[in-house]
Amino acid sequence: MKHLGIYPGSFDPLTNGHLDIVSRSLGLFEKIIIAVAQNSAKKYLFSIEERIELIKKSTSHMKHIEIDTFDGLLVDYCREKKSKAIIRGLRAVTDFEYEYAISLMNKELAPEIETVFLMASSENSFISSSIVKEVTMNGRDLPTKVPDAVNKALLKKFNIKQ
Ligand code: ADP
Repeated sequence: MKHLGIYPGSFDPLTNGHLDIVSRSLGLFEKIIIAVAQNSAKKYLFSIEERIELIKKSTSHMKHIEIDTFDGLLVDYCREKKSKAIIRGLRAVTDFEYEYAISLMNKELAPEIETVFLMASSENSFISSSIVKEVTMNGRDLPTKVPDAVNKALLKKFNIKQ
């Protein structure tokens, strides 16, 4: 499919920053696959099943979305799905270096696939899954920065009573 975009990530857990990229991408592509990474070398707070469930709950109001998992090389997954576009969000200069290196490597491996970068919107520019986990772990939740289902799951995970 020409207008199929793949949005890969850890989504550990999904934040409003991720959701913003998904909804803005839907203005550019006919369909988006949110591809949840299952990297055995990485340690996740939420299992792959939990991360998928939270994305499902948080995107239930959106159309033209598929949620899937992948391991191995992203470009191989894109080829398997016949997608020519990888979608990534860019927050800060720190994101840029890493994203630039990965996008060049992906271009080397699969020249027909483009990486499309969307800048984080100002209200989400400092949100990351790591910051959200760090704050919640220390007893404070961030209900305006993550979808409701994610906030509940974080509080439960860290055994925090509301
Ligand atoms: P990864 O481990 O692949 O970086 P993440 O779940 O951390 O997975 O991020 C997935 C993608 O979403 C990345 O392109 C990241 O830059 C982007 N992203 C994460 N948080 C935000 C945010 N607040 N605003 C915009 N893009 C974001």
